[in-house]
Amino acid sequence: MAEECVRDRFLIKPRKHYSPKDNTRYVIPSKVIRDTEKVLAEYARIKPANEGLVYWGGIEGGNIITVRAVIAPQTESDFGMVSTSHRSNFDFVRTLSKYNLVQVAQVHSHPSNWVDHSLGDDTLAAFKTEGLLSIVVPEYCDRGMLPLTTCGIHRYTRWVFIRLSKKYINSHFVIRNDLSSYLEDFRK
Ligand SMILES: [Zn+2]
Repeated sequence: MAEECVRDRFLIKPRKHYSPKDNTRYVIPSKVIRDTEKVLAEYARIKPANEGLVYWGGIEGGNIITVRAVIAPQTESDFGMVSTSHRSNFDFVRTLSKYNLVQVAQVHSHPSNWVDHSLGDDTLAAFKTEGLLSIVVPEYCDRGMLPLTTCGIHRYTRWVFIRLSKKYINSHFVIRNDLSSYLEDFRK
């Protein structure tokens, strides 16, 4: 989520992809995908295109995490970077509380098909809690974010973001058409 998103592609070696042995299931309403794509596409339409950022909130029940809300914070964005303020992070936390949700993921777009985490993505992430997902969407979301394996899905695990394997994503993430979700947009 910083300028490094562009530069690091050529500097840091590709991340290892992990297939953790767990039975966590992530349930994502298709509306969450559509709302996320819509917001990221709006950043892409800025000239020149900007990286975009949204947060996902959800509920945890046993080993099942269900996404219930897309929250678009106020950001500073540009080519190759997007960041949030303390104020917008406060609005985000307040919204989670309003709906009784926990933070599930941060989702941001990259200019190219490079969807690893940059050094900035690792160090400047506003939130780092165990199990938090960080999803990087390629090509400014021009082609959407499906299948999810086109994205880089990272999980904060023991103080570092690890990148999840396609095998893990295919077996642990499910998209459902029959679930509702909220969209809260703080950019206005
Ligand atoms: Zn990034």
